Amino acid sequence: MKVAMFYGPGDVRLEEKDIPEIKDTEVLVRIRAALTCGTDVKTYRRGHRLLPPPSPFGHEYAGDVVAVGKMVEKVTEGTRVVAANSAPCGHCFYCKRGRESLCENLFFVWGAFSEYIVVPERIVKKNLLTVPDHVTYEEAALTEPLACVIHGVEESAICMGDTVVINGAGPIGLFFTALVKQKGARVIQTDLVDERLSVAETLGADHIINAQEGEDATIKKVKALTEGRGADIAIEAVGYPKIWETTIKMTRKGGTATLFGGCEKNTAITVDTSLLHYSEITMKGVFHHTPQYIRTALNLISWGAIDTKTFITEKMPLSRIDEALQKVLAQKGVKIALIP
Ligand SMILES: [Zn+2]
Ligand SMILES: [Zn+2]
Repeated sequence: MKVAMFYGPGDVRLEEKDIPEIKDTEVLVRIRAALTCGTDVKTYRRGHRLLPPPSPFGHEYAGDVVAVGKMVEKVTEGTRVVAANSAPCGHCFYCKRGRESLCENLFFVWGAFSEYIVVPERIVKKNLLTVPDHVTYEEAALTEPLACVIHGVEESAICMGDTVVINGAGPIGLFFTALVKQKGARVIQTDLVDERLSVAETLGADHIINAQEGEDATIKKVKALTEGRGADIAIEAVGYPKIWETTIKMTRKGGTATLFGGCEKNTAITVDTSLLHYSEITMKGVFHHTPQYIRTALNLISWGAIDTKTFITEKMPLSRIDEALQKVLAQKGVKIALIP
């Protein structure tokens, strides 16, 4: 089988490997579509602490079950499936308290940029779902990133009539826009790239702000749209400490800053203590997904609640992975589906 291997920043090689064997509790999936994701693009640009090269990578995929371990009952050969990239253990301190995204025993499965992938036991049990017939493989592969954003939206406690500013119009920011609109809130979308802002508009963003003019000007514009207060909820969907700070400054008194984008390791932010104290702002970190959100995500896709065509802007054969990653790195397109 063909596997895309990450050898270091900018260095991805397509290699020939044996199709892996499965254990009695595992499932082998023939991947039919894998999507580029911010994490993969970051990996491609600067490496990833969990991916010592050479390493298979990619984690958003859907495909067909082609082999089933003896002890697996939930799927059979030929079942169309989507699997998450991890699953919580169910018995640690955090899992028992219902905080499964904080599971102490999370492990991640990489290798979606490949012809085949082994789904390990825990994911088979908790996060392997059957894809409805009318949902395409590419659409189903949106399940994992969408689940993360559903988590972010639910943690932000958005009410009808709220104003939500979303900083960053990459795939994650755009998922936020689509979901926040469904919550009956007004969306102000910021980004540095006009093309991405116009995609946000097609998804229903009420106001767009190109943040090229700098932090102060952008905050001023957000305040001008909210009678000088700032947004009820401000969301960071970029992953830069500077934008985390900007996001907090855009939040109104008593509002919530949802800090969603993962920043580089060992970075820090500065927060004005008076602002935090007198404004009673809630700062919320949000990470990853849970089995419940994975199911919700596939349901939303299946019900047609997500404009999937806006999110998957192109399809390419797996052999063109370099080109695909460079394209999304250059912010041309939202997500590219790689077809092995
Ligand atoms: Zn992802
Ligand atoms: Zn756990």
